[in-house]
Amino acid sequence: MLRSEKLFDRAQRVLPGGVNSPVRAFRAVDLCPRFIERADGPYIYDADGRKYIDYVCSWGPMLLGHNHPAIRAAVEQAVQHGLSFGAPTEAEVEMAELMVDMVPNIEMVRMVNSGTEAVMSAIRLARGATGRDKLIKFEGCYHGHSDCLLVNAGSSALAGGHPSSAGVPEDIVKHTLTAQFNRLDTVEALFDEWPGQIACVILEPVAANMGVVAPSPGFLEGLRALCDRYGALLVFDEVITGFRLAPGGAQEYFGIKADLVTFGKIIGGGMPVGAYCGSRALMEQVAPCGPVYQAGTLSGNPVAMAAGLAQLRHIRSHPELYVSIEHSAKELAAEMRAAAAAHGTDVSINQIGSLIAPFFTPNGVTTFVDAKGSDVGRYARYFRGMLERGIYLAPAQFEAMFISTAHTKEDFQRTLEAVDAVFAAL
Ligand SMILES: *Cc1c(COP(=O)(O)O)cnc(C)c1O
Repeated sequence: MLRSEKLFDRAQRVLPGGVNSPVRAFRAVDLCPRFIERADGPYIYDADGRKYIDYVCSWGPMLLGHNHPAIRAAVEQAVQHGLSFGAPTEAEVEMAELMVDMVPNIEMVRMVNSGTEAVMSAIRLARGATGRDKLIKFEGCYHGHSDCLLVNAGSSALAGGHPSSAGVPEDIVKHTLTAQFNRLDTVEALFDEWPGQIACVILEPVAANMGVVAPSPGFLEGLRALCDRYGALLVFDEVITGFRLAPGGAQEYFGIKADLVTFGKIIGGGMPVGAYCGSRALMEQVAPCGPVYQAGTLSGNPVAMAAGLAQLRHIRSHPELYVSIEHSAKELAAEMRAAAAAHGTDVSINQIGSLIAPFFTPNGVTTFVDAKGSDVGRYARYFRGMLERGIYLAPAQFEAMFISTAHTKEDFQRTLEAVDAVFAAL
């Protein structure tokens, strides 16, 4: 019996499903999850001493790979000064200054402790600032687990076959309207149906919780124009795309201005951090300046700020890393397509920036309906085959594969050898 299996038995006695976040339970791939002992660079090591090339990267934060020396050193230094003060610190000011400097169209930042909190708070701010209750989200986009956004959500909310959740009152979700990603007509129809009532449109500018689906040409521009026409705010949930597509995130990558932007994952450098950001006029609606209440005992935590700052500083001084990881991802995706063609595997591989997702369907995937056409049973077989060969992928179809700066040519070569063998067997 594997040590991971023994640990999972113990875990299931005291943690629901043996985990603290559902996708980690490996249910979509019908396997015992690997318990992880440590990670370094592009590799993670499980409790049985097995080494894997890691393409989960803690679901995105590890842009620079695991255990990056600059981040580790910053954290080690910070802990010597105490873990939490519940009072302002210089590090959080520096962090906010750096973000304002790197990200287009934002003047102020509020730090929180997770992506969920960031998005939940941004929605409250959008509603408070516009005096409107309704919001438009897209089917298959995931924005964390707060009540009003857990409607037709993506990620493991999808893999479990429950696009919504028990315990969310109808009265709350009646204000959440759902449109189709890459289908502007579905957004316009909702604006027409609810004139003067829509506070904001929120989306992942690259949908990365239904696999990976890039915005079609004109889609983001069209959303910007619709929001302007109907007096609604455009909210980019950049919890994945922030500091991943470019130093300035999707706003910079696509050249589109959002009114509010949320961050998480990468900005914490592996520590729990989220943030929501916007213009001074909007952000000063937040307490203590304005009437929109939001607070946090551990928000701006000094150790978390140290990790985030070290990661963002590295990014700012190495902007060329984005060219390099995008190039690696493009090549890897191309080689995966070639392997699929060689073996006659029906797989459609989406890639944008350093994000990749294979869908097990012969058709191209540009919408959520297309994404749902993937054969998830085949994804599970692909996943298990790759894991056996030492490649650690997201244990569910509707997730992204993350490339970090730590992945080497040899890692990609080994990954492709595994892909080739697994596609042949499929
Ligand atoms: C992960 C994610 C969230 C939620 O962040 P947590 O830190 O898990 O609460 C929100 N939005 C997007 C786009 C995400 O990928």
